[in-house]
Amino acid sequence: MSEKHHPSRLRFNFGFFLEAPLGTSRTYELNYPTIQVDELTLTPLQGDFTAVRTSEGVYVTGQLYTIQHTPCTRCLEDAVIEIDINLDDLYYYPPDTTPEGEYALGEDGYIDLGPLVRELSILGIPLHPLCREDCQGLCPQCGQNLNQGQCECEIDNIDPRLAVLKELLSEDVKS
Ligand SMILES: [Zn+2]
Ligand SMILES: [Zn+2]
Repeated sequence: MSEKHHPSRLRFNFGFFLEAPLGTSRTYELNYPTIQVDELTLTPLQGDFTAVRTSEGVYVTGQLYTIQHTPCTRCLEDAVIEIDINLDDLYYYPPDTTPEGEYALGEDGYIDLGPLVRELSILGIPLHPLCREDCQGLCPQCGQNLNQGQCECEIDNIDPRLAVLKELLSEDVKS
């Protein structure tokens, strides 16, 4: 079985909205301990959203929460990134009224939140993720993870201000 064709677990049947009066709404609660969205593993994915029938389609608002794991930019250890996913999107209906780049409610009445959740989860990861704010990173000389303690490499561990002092001292010795 090809991985690519497995149905998204974030598909919802909004078919009943199509005949419903404008303003009809329904709230959905998500609580997946873990869910695969394309190449992303979201552990967990939880929260809720409300869908409202509007003249243009179905408007979805809500907030989901997930956690992603990605390597820390400084030390390469696991960085745990908490992400709030704010849903605020219109799914157009009928699909042929959908502007370029917008999401549509399918002819079959289903929406797939997968692509939106995937996009917002990726955008939620900072450019330079850190395992913690004050991560000390790796020693550029020996590669020691400085969060786990100092290494033996002296020079690179010296505070830049002290380095200047050391330079002055060595000049004193020369003169
Ligand atoms: Zn780190
Ligand atoms: Zn070192």
